[in-house]
Amino acid sequence: ASIFTAVPRAPPVAVFKLTADFREDGDARKVNLGVGAYRTDEGQPWVLPVVKKVEQMIANDNSLNHEYLPILGLPEFRANASRIALGDDSPAIKENRIGSVQSLGGTGALRIGAEFLRRWYNGNNNTATPVYISAPSWENHNSVFVDAGFKDIRTYHYWDAAKRGLDLQGLLDDMEKAPEFSIFILHACAHNPTGTDPTPDQWKQIAAVMKRRFLFPFFDSAYQGFASGSLDKDAWAVRYFVSEGFELFCAQSFSKNFGLYNERVGNLTVVGKDADNVQRVLSQMEKIVRTTWSNPPSQGARIVATTLTSPQLFAEWKDNVKTMADRVLLMRSELRSRLESLGTPGTWNHITEQIGMFSFTGLNPKQVEYMIKEKHIYLMASGRINMCGLTTKNLDYVAKSIHEAVTK
Ligand code: PLP
Repeated sequence: ASIFTAVPRAPPVAVFKLTADFREDGDARKVNLGVGAYRTDEGQPWVLPVVKKVEQMIANDNSLNHEYLPILGLPEFRANASRIALGDDSPAIKENRIGSVQSLGGTGALRIGAEFLRRWYNGNNNTATPVYISAPSWENHNSVFVDAGFKDIRTYHYWDAAKRGLDLQGLLDDMEKAPEFSIFILHACAHNPTGTDPTPDQWKQIAAVMKRRFLFPFFDSAYQGFASGSLDKDAWAVRYFVSEGFELFCAQSFSKNFGLYNERVGNLTVVGKDADNVQRVLSQMEKIVRTTWSNPPSQGARIVATTLTSPQLFAEWKDNVKTMADRVLLMRSELRSRLESLGTPGTWNHITEQIGMFSFTGLNPKQVEYMIKEKHIYLMASGRINMCGLTTKNLDYVAKSIHEAVTK
């Protein structure tokens, strides 16, 4: 008998399973609204033109080699990634009290950050510190913190289903009630899956409670540039918290805004009270990285660093990001106007009010099942759709199918 006989089969990861089901579906009308990646109006993945250009520069650069990077990553990548998050004139950068860890995607940044917090935050190896995750959230948040050893993972109110908007009061109440020093995972912008962010004024209220109650902000920034098309606007919340004097973590992903999904490019920014604190934190981060991936891969980090350090390439990148953000906006207004002219019961203004890659349609699990089984339109059970899965060619079909799912 195998020594693995007792290993139970784990359930598949929902979003990858959905894509596998989509691939196997032979129906010509099929549409994939599940996957969390950008698609062109032809339904294809997009290599950003600026990325293609920089890749060629890298390929032709004979000074580059494949030596190991430092444990914490490529210095010019780390510094510039953090600068994009915190802003050129960040007081924390000027005061030399930030540190960065190059990571394997945004997930790697979250995982390394979570591991550090379990080891060193609020006591040594304190697995009892409550970790609060928005309800709902990206489903991996919970697992990442569980795997890092945290025992008390909780949810905070976020989505008001009736209102199809932010439950600010519920969120603030949960923060008031949370034990001091609890960790809060906050989506920096373009909340996944709801597409609903607090306004600047609401963020101010959130920051005020968190400061008074000694709650730790761990920002997850996976969609900078995708929410508004502007890097600065999308970083407003993180920068505001820094300006308010918080010590915090910010996990960045360059998967979406650079289209570098499989290169695994991420960065964890640590903002502390002073340089000495940050240096000690980084020394511990080195220990964690060493036993996790030892040192990070270079290609994606080189692409991002080269782009961010050249004014011309940087401008091209911002333009590419805007192209993606604008296509999402167009699909939002096109879908909404189709549902409204079909007279589909319910209100559909949330489709254009929500921001980022996703829309939380409000379709219930039965309607989602109908969409998949009868219409070959694949979306998450939560009703989340990726706006980039829509194209000028499939909009009519998707809108009519949503109408049927809602009215049948
Ligand atoms: N955080 C959120 C909210 C996400 O939606 C994602 C990706 O879907 C990530 C983090 C992780 O991104 P990456 O692929 O860079 O690990």
